[in-house]
Amino acid sequence: MMENRNATGYRPTWAQIDLDNLSHNLRQIRNNIAPGVRIMACVKAEAYGHGLIPVSRQLVNSGVEFLAVASIDEAVALRSSGIACRILVLGLVLEQDVPALFEYDISPTVCSMALALGLDRHARRTGRAIDVHIKIDTGMARIGIMHDKAYDFVRKVSAFPGIRIEGIFTHLACADTDKLLTLSQISLFDSLVRRLKKNGAAIPLVHAANSMGVASYKNSHFSMVRPGLILYGLRPADDISLDLKPVMSLKTKVIFVKNVKAGTGISYGHTYKTTRATRIATLPIGYGDGYPRNLSNTGPVLINGKRFTIAGRVCMDQVMVDMGREQVKVGDEAVLIGSQAKERISAESLASLAATIPYEIVCGIGSRVPRVYTKKTALPQDKRRRERAVCRIPVRFVDTPSLSGTPGIAADISSGGLKLFTADPVLPYRPYELSLEQRRAEPVRVTASAVWSRPAPGNRHVCGMKFEKELRDFKEVF
Ligand SMILES: *Cc1c(COP(=O)(O)O)cnc(C)c1O
Repeated sequence: MMENRNATGYRPTWAQIDLDNLSHNLRQIRNNIAPGVRIMACVKAEAYGHGLIPVSRQLVNSGVEFLAVASIDEAVALRSSGIACRILVLGLVLEQDVPALFEYDISPTVCSMALALGLDRHARRTGRAIDVHIKIDTGMARIGIMHDKAYDFVRKVSAFPGIRIEGIFTHLACADTDKLLTLSQISLFDSLVRRLKKNGAAIPLVHAANSMGVASYKNSHFSMVRPGLILYGLRPADDISLDLKPVMSLKTKVIFVKNVKAGTGISYGHTYKTTRATRIATLPIGYGDGYPRNLSNTGPVLINGKRFTIAGRVCMDQVMVDMGREQVKVGDEAVLIGSQAKERISAESLASLAATIPYEIVCGIGSRVPRVYTKKTALPQDKRRRERAVCRIPVRFVDTPSLSGTPGIAADISSGGLKLFTADPVLPYRPYELSLEQRRAEPVRVTASAVWSRPAPGNRHVCGMKFEKELRDFKEVF
């Protein structure tokens, strides 16, 4: 027997994910922030319904160094698929799960002394410090240490030997609706950061900006921004000047067509009655796929390049469309989000019809809908990545009196050399013995010398080192 199943399964309903548009949106974000400001891409909730792993891969290959997720589980899924960039868990983790953070090299959000103590204890037990980001509540009232208690908290935690405070952040509660409140949140956060800095507790990564902050509040950018929605080409508000391209389209095909008389009741409850003899098309998608039932009798659908409306209630697995006199046949493509010919339906417009937000529309598209990824252009970095990886590999200087015991972090390693962050400056043109740690294998010893060296944020130094002999056997990356 012939198999009819294709990439989307037997049912012709799928979400198309355009990875080129994702990279386009990332470039727009980069163009909108000052050079040197970093991007932490929010990929929680399956990358807002777009698919955690393919989206994260594309982002990392496009140069993103930090990913943000909501839970340890999401972070472990990233690690398990080989993603080696920095990961921050934005939500709170349970103390009992502290060992997993160390095992998978995941940074937690910290805003309680109990968690800080638990992390420090585990760090001392295992002899490995952990990078954390401290969350400040400046008005969201969700998680975070209250801004007026934060100074003392940060001072205390920064004395813990097992904890490196790599980041400090807050979250804007009303960036899309209340400018005054947003500015006051930014200012509370800014005062705290300045006070810490003045008193010798400079923290390298300071972040506050969600999508709305990135687009509309330059003074919320600090040293890193944390966009989610705009990466996916969606707007948190109408007045956003970034040139964004939607990443997700939601498509299906007509599965049944019938002609009905005037006065025919359509779907559950007969909330729609035809006013004339007309043609009804049935589509194999429903609220069981995350298409909101609120779009009963209002949801737009594109078929044959024209716009039609859902007739009657959205069912669990099907919807009907009143096509009028339009010639339509089984197998014709129907677009529920995205464009067809000159027509376009945005997730934002669906959200407004369904009395919700675009976030909920895309996150809600369920796992029953297969994601189909498209990517026309190879990234310039794809080739480079084959021999070079952005990473964070703990490095120790061995047999070097001046630097012995100084821990370093290698970011970006190739078979020829590495970029190394250290607390003390590394002298150029002088061979050093390094020990590179690996998560699942013995450390590797190499001889390397710096070809350049300069100060980096957070009282650190960064240098580029060349290996004396090509590094071939390093399981962590190659
Ligand atoms: C989800 C989330 C973001 C991203 O928000 P967008 O509005 O999608 O840009 C940023 N920060 C935190 C803490 C979040 O939870």
